[in-house]
Order: sequence, then C-alpha cells, then structure tokens
Amino acid sequence: MGNSWVVDLRHFLTDDGSLAEMPRPAMRLATYFGRIVRAVTVRDKSSLATGIRCRRRPSQRPCPGEVIAFIDYQNGSAIVWSCPVCGDNGIISGWEGTLWDWSVSA
Ligand SMILES: [Zn+2]
Repeated sequence: MGNSWVVDLRHFLTDDGSLAEMPRPAMRLATYFGRIVRAVTVRDKSSLATGIRCRRRPSQRPCPGEVIAFIDYQNGSAIVWSCPVCGDNGIISGWEGTLWDWSVSA
C-alpha cells in the first residue's frame, strides 16, 4: 500500500503566499499536492477525477493510477485524495486562498 500524506499547504508558502525556498524533493511534493488542489477547485464538483497521474513508482515502474480527490466538508474542507491502484493517499489542509486554489475565480 502507499503512504498516507497529511500536509498543510501553508507550510510550503511564505507569508506573502508565494512558494517558499525548499529542497527539490519537497518542491516536487508541493507541486504535486498543488496540482491536486487546483484540479479539485476548477472542476465540476460532482466528479472525483483529477486527471493527475499517480506519482508513485512501485517496483521502479510508474503507477498507472489516476488520483481521485474530493473536498471533505465534514472535516474542515480538507481535500482527501487517493490513488485507486496503489493506495497512495493523503489529506491536504490549508489550501484555501493559496496560489493553487482556483475556486474563487471559478
Ligand atoms: Zn498509484
């Protein structure tokens, strides 16, 4: 099974809301989680699909799964995501109002 990522996107940002300087692996994760947030905030609310390919490479092969995600309004509007193929999953909080949040302009 995959990992469970619990992240607060504000940890990746500076006080003015731009991306903080961070090591490359952290930057890759921030970008990945950010794409999930953007996908969830731009799309039709009734859909779970994000169009985002899973980032994991079990056994050195890219996972063929596509991330599904939704906003959990029962849980502080955290974004809950998972890969139905490998089970990688996580919860993203602190995304509202970030550069990845497109819900305002939608
Ligand atoms: Zn996967």
